[in-house]
Amino acid sequence: PSLSLFSLSSPTSHLSVHLFCPFFLVAASGYKQLISSAWEISNLLCNSGLETVDGVRGRRHLGGARIGIVAKPSAEFVAGILATWFSGGVAVPLALSYPETELLHVMNDAEISMVLSTEDHQQLMQSVAAKCAAQFSLIPSVHRISSHESVHDHPQIEEIALDKGDDPALIIYTSGTTGKPKGAVHTHKSITAQVQTLAEAWEYTSTDQFLNCSTVEFMPKFSVRGVWQRWRESYPPNGSKADDAITVFTGVPTIYSRLIQGYEAMDPDQQAASASAARQLRLTMSGSSALPLPVMQEWEAITGHRLLERYGMTEFVMAISNPLRGVRKAGTVGKPFPGVQVKIAEDPNENDTTGVGELCIRSPSMFKEYWKLPSANLFYIFKDVCNVTEDSFTDDGFFKTGDAGKIDEDGYYVILGRTSADIMKVGGYKLSALEIESALLEHPVVAECCVLGLPDKTYGEAVCAIIVPVEAAKRKQESSAISLEELCEWAKDKLAPYKLPTRLFLWESLPRNAMGKVNKKELKKVLADE
Ligand code: ATP
Ligand code: MG
Repeated sequence: PSLSLFSLSSPTSHLSVHLFCPFFLVAASGYKQLISSAWEISNLLCNSGLETVDGVRGRRHLGGARIGIVAKPSAEFVAGILATWFSGGVAVPLALSYPETELLHVMNDAEISMVLSTEDHQQLMQSVAAKCAAQFSLIPSVHRISSHESVHDHPQIEEIALDKGDDPALIIYTSGTTGKPKGAVHTHKSITAQVQTLAEAWEYTSTDQFLNCSTVEFMPKFSVRGVWQRWRESYPPNGSKADDAITVFTGVPTIYSRLIQGYEAMDPDQQAASASAARQLRLTMSGSSALPLPVMQEWEAITGHRLLERYGMTEFVMAISNPLRGVRKAGTVGKPFPGVQVKIAEDPNENDTTGVGELCIRSPSMFKEYWKLPSANLFYIFKDVCNVTEDSFTDDGFFKTGDAGKIDEDGYYVILGRTSADIMKVGGYKLSALEIESALLEHPVVAECCVLGLPDKTYGEAVCAIIVPVEAAKRKQESSAISLEELCEWAKDKLAPYKLPTRLFLWESLPRNAMGKVNKKELKKVLADE
């Protein structure tokens, strides 16, 4: 596709699929200076003293050396990725939000031999690189000019960089919700497949402009006010549209709740301008964790947009999505993209026929392997690693997601949560924590909620709810914002009796990782001792 650079997303090692699109599409047709700049950096990489191997046209290349990329969402970030590809390296985006210890973990795990960063992160990255015996190099600024230029204008790049098929292109680290982050190795082919799928399904075009705030830790930079302001500037009240107007916005559910809170705190004039601007976006999407129904409803009431919820993983990026055109069903993640096969593996030891089972996926955008984790090994237990490549696929090549799901009467998929942490066994029943969470979130006093199963002598597991009360309730009476009895009395019309919580904790906040997700395995350990 001849699409231009339309999106500069968060360069985080926590995957958001949108990251892929700009990377690849810019290679198809990008900003003139970007490609030239990437080409210059790639020459520098090849001549930096790193080990090189023979390649096409007598050009020596890096033979898959890992290059860490650190830059804000910018043209420079894309230049760093392209340069890595042009020089035969594998790009490892490093999250700016990582504390140094995590940065060091990822750098050592990926065995990064060179860090490319922009000037603003030079000081930090130079010292981090030194600690990992990696080299450091600067990504020079790329000036935005509008004349487009295709890689076809650079025959040498075309020959060297494109059509590498099964070669690793990117290592993206998972969010680390269930253990240490794992490096998912993506190939040029898997990225290309994903880009083509999304360009078709969500009708991405060269006129789209993304604003992507995928991680909660970007909050200091992602400010609620900043996002609303960017939209108001895109679509001013006089009815005009800025040249660089945002058209697509994507975020995790927490981002939307914060944007809603921000909106509610505005004065009426600003609310009117903000809502009118948001209405003119083309598309707003949510993913990465379950979208609570109240958030979806409030967002629609304010902006007129029905959030498009989709399901993806670092390992295969996006696989199931509600439609761009057609019915977006709340509580579901839609249907598989063309070319994606989904199988629900029901537990043969269970004799219920609920249709609930582990989602298994086959997709052209499937990752190749977990970096340095080929097969089970005692060593991994100590490393707190819970997935290895070998155990992650069925004999017929389906990836075992570790997520439970089912299909509803319209053929839409419903995610019930992680088989390891969200599916509770209470008495004879298998319950989904996500379903209970979404019901409890409708209570006016509940701002955030996390449901998990704690060991119980009689029932195997007991349904336990941790609730963060809304600010107003917190202020009133810290500990008695809501009682277990009140909550259950209210919830009994929405949930079957065996789904009602039997234990309740009121907390100030929930411990979330950079992607806004709660590590329930850790929480269970903590609460089991209470
Ligand atoms: P790790 O693999 O390191 O434990 P992680 O699984 O959270 O971390 P990601 O690859 O970022 O890392 O997240 C994928 C997971 O996110 C899925 O397995 C699923 O549990 C969850 N998820 C993604 N989209 C949705 C959605 N729409 N609804 C519910 N859960 C979702
Ligand atoms: Mg995972």
